Amino acid sequence: MQIRLQFFDEEEEILLLDKDSPLRNLVPLRTLQEIRAAIETIDVFTVPIPSRSANVILSSLRAIVPTSLQHLRRLVKPCYIPDPLVDFLAVPPTPPEENILYLLVCPVADISEDNLSNFLRELPAFSTTGTIPRIMTIAVPSSQPISAAQATEWSAKYWPAVYKRGNPYGPHPSLVSQTLRGLVDPENHILLAKRTAAKAAFSGEGLGFGAVIVDPQTGQVLAAAGDARLRCNEKGWSNPLDHAAMRAIDMVAQRRLGRAQNVRPDNKVEVWDGIYLEDEEASGKIVTKVNGNSNIKKEDTDGDANGENGKEADDRRDDGYLCHNLQVYLSHEPCVMCGMALLHSRVGSVVFGTRMTRTGALNAEAGGKQMGLFWRPELNWKFICWQWRAGPGEEMESHENVDA
Ligand SMILES: [Zn+2]
Repeated sequence: MQIRLQFFDEEEEILLLDKDSPLRNLVPLRTLQEIRAAIETIDVFTVPIPSRSANVILSSLRAIVPTSLQHLRRLVKPCYIPDPLVDFLAVPPTPPEENILYLLVCPVADISEDNLSNFLRELPAFSTTGTIPRIMTIAVPSSQPISAAQATEWSAKYWPAVYKRGNPYGPHPSLVSQTLRGLVDPENHILLAKRTAAKAAFSGEGLGFGAVIVDPQTGQVLAAAGDARLRCNEKGWSNPLDHAAMRAIDMVAQRRLGRAQNVRPDNKVEVWDGIYLEDEEASGKIVTKVNGNSNIKKEDTDGDANGENGKEADDRRDDGYLCHNLQVYLSHEPCVMCGMALLHSRVGSVVFGTRMTRTGALNAEAGGKQMGLFWRPELNWKFICWQWRAGPGEEMESHENVDA
């Protein structure tokens, strides 16, 4: 049976990509709630009722059970009953279909079957004949569909569903499209992250992970950092937390400290915890900081980000968050520590290359940690996240059990 549903017109804001567009390699991550919404069903009662009594029955019903499941059609013509239910519901094969409608009563938790029988028996539509329609239990999706496509799928499988504009479980499709359009040369920046990762591994000072941070307003690479957890300082100590993303965030921080915005009444500019630019002592400290930062960057990047140092100002509004709405490109899916650091820094979007099935914090799909840190309702910041689909031979080593 062909399902004819005309209530989906929500796709107009979705970005249409050319066949050859590199953006087709970007696979948006599904949020944890989206994944849960896609699989959870709930048992509900349904009964066939005479269509001429539908309005009376519906208003009587509203008096005894709460209205819920608003993403599902309350009254459904037999021709719209999905194929898998046709036999079970004993749907009449041909017209006159309009004589009956299937009423989605409510979740079985909201009323007992006995009480529902009694309710039906007292309705004028059935009290005269003394027979009540068969009460049937079916499983339907418990939460709203997140896209028109999902509503269509559910309508064909469970029960006619309604897709309302928006996405209660993740970013609105138009936000995803808009953010996708705003990505600055993702193909080259993911490549830079991978090359930085390869350099880190080759140097022996870190594992093969790389991170690049880009300012979408200027297109500038603000930081490119390789993992450095194996690097020893003069005392022979290494820092196991020197992950690529943490180092890249730190580089952005150093840049911003180098051009701090706090101005005293005497026009002196604060650069570091109460130290001001015009104080002689401060300028020495700043130079040290900036030089140190420059050196780190030089050894971690392969030229694209070289020549940029902490003294270069950008014109972003100083809102107190280090990476507000910046774009982050990672060779690998970050660990929980780096994922939370990106979140707290308020990045705008993240693209990563290789999924880290055992340790990655961004994916919510089955088979991993299923944390979906990029978009969770209990966290006070969310960002859009994609995985860059590697072409043949482009896949990087995944270091399965390691935190990236
Ligand atoms: Zn990490």
